[in-house]
Amino acid sequence: MRKIAIYGKGGIGKSTTTSNLSAALALKGYKVMQVGCDPKSDSTKNLMKGMRIPTVLEQLKEKGEALELKDIVFEGFGGVLCVEAGGPTPGIGCAGRGIISAFEKLEELKAFEIYKPDIVIYDVLGDVVCGGFAMPIRGGYAREVFIVSSGEMMALYAANNIAQAIKNFGRRGYAHLKGIILNAKNIENEQELVAKAAAEIETEVVMYVPRSGDIQTAENQGGTVSEFVQVSPMVKIYQELADKVLEMSEDIKGDE
Ligand code: ADP
Ligand code: SF4
Ligand code: MG
Repeated sequence: MRKIAIYGKGGIGKSTTTSNLSAALALKGYKVMQVGCDPKSDSTKNLMKGMRIPTVLEQLKEKGEALELKDIVFEGFGGVLCVEAGGPTPGIGCAGRGIISAFEKLEELKAFEIYKPDIVIYDVLGDVVCGGFAMPIRGGYAREVFIVSSGEMMALYAANNIAQAIKNFGRRGYAHLKGIILNAKNIENEQELVAKAAAEIETEVVMYVPRSGDIQTAENQGGTVSEFVQVSPMVKIYQELADKVLEMSEDIKGDE
């Protein structure tokens, strides 16, 4: 099984990138599980016809010990298994707690052994890489980490923080930063800016994803470009990203 985490600043395009990547991998024949780790809980909506699925935290609250896998894992486009960790009401408690509870519940219910995904992709908010949001890289869940960033200062600031967190936790030898996915905002000198920032954190830009109106066209219909705008050049971009991710990640058998 491959285990990937995609981090980045809020609103930078993590969920768009992740769901389009999942769709591309699914079309290549891979069994994908996408786990949204953002209190926004909309990571998987473009795989679920624009619908929001109930989060693990919500379902835990409602069903308690009676919770079953079918209450938290939903099949979306291309058979992608969709999970949203969720988060508590803003201002109350720990947002990262949702991630931990979700991971514990998935393990307890043997989700990976039962569904046998080829690849699990965690879509994680990276504005604050505190204990909670660092869980995917800290707890041995994700092996390879990619950061989504534009050339905007705040996005690069978040990228730098995420890289530092990986370095700190990476001493235990598990999660590794594989590179930056440049999701363009079309600001001046964007490619140079991001390449320079990447070099500063000792990594590289692994993919350039242009800004495209086709993303909105697909999103307005509740999906990815692979589902709704098949003629779009973006379909090929996400297929290329899928190939890159496969090439740069390790497939460890029996690693559930
Ligand atoms: P995040 O998950 O990082 O919070 P989202 O994936 O929800 O961010 O993206 C925020 C918005 O940016 C979405 O409405 C999406 O349509 C838009 N977006 C993301 N990537 C692109 C792109 N490459 N081209 C055009 N719009 C994009
Ligand atoms: Fe907030 Fe993170 Fe602290 Fe939780 S661990 S309370 S999410 S800063
Ligand atoms: Mg998101």
